[in-house]
Amino acid sequence: MRLLLLVLGMIACLSACEKDQFTADQRLARYLYKEACRISSYECRIKPPVVRRTELAAARGMWGFYTGGNIIWIDPDIDGTLLWSTVFHEIIHYLQFQGGTVGMEFELLYCVYEWNAQDYTNEFLASIPGGESYIRDYEVWKGIYQC
Ligand SMILES: [Zn+2]
Repeated sequence: MRLLLLVLGMIACLSACEKDQFTADQRLARYLYKEACRISSYECRIKPPVVRRTELAAARGMWGFYTGGNIIWIDPDIDGTLLWSTVFHEIIHYLQFQGGTVGMEFELLYCVYEWNAQDYTNEFLASIPGGESYIRDYEVWKGIYQC
């Protein structure tokens, strides 16, 4: 009986904890969306994106990615400033395509879109406590994105 209660408690906690993280991620996305609208030159006529966590991010060698629509995908294990930086960066991609389809344009102008997202992310990071150590200069950025 005691074990059963323990297992039931763990299951309840697991789903509650997941739900809490999902809720916290959406709250963060709403806040960072406002910051992205304030810092960037993009129009913000669409709703903030939905943040979802996926193992696919790490499998693709990234902390997060955006493939169109209203969902930003991020690594399940990131938190703190890395989480803020990643979500902000993907929100810029979301704004670049206004929640629409990411097409060939992105492939062709990949370095331009990525530098634009990095530039705004750097500006955001400079404005938050502890953000400076996550700022990527041009040389570091160039190596990461092979541009
Ligand atoms: Zn990017």
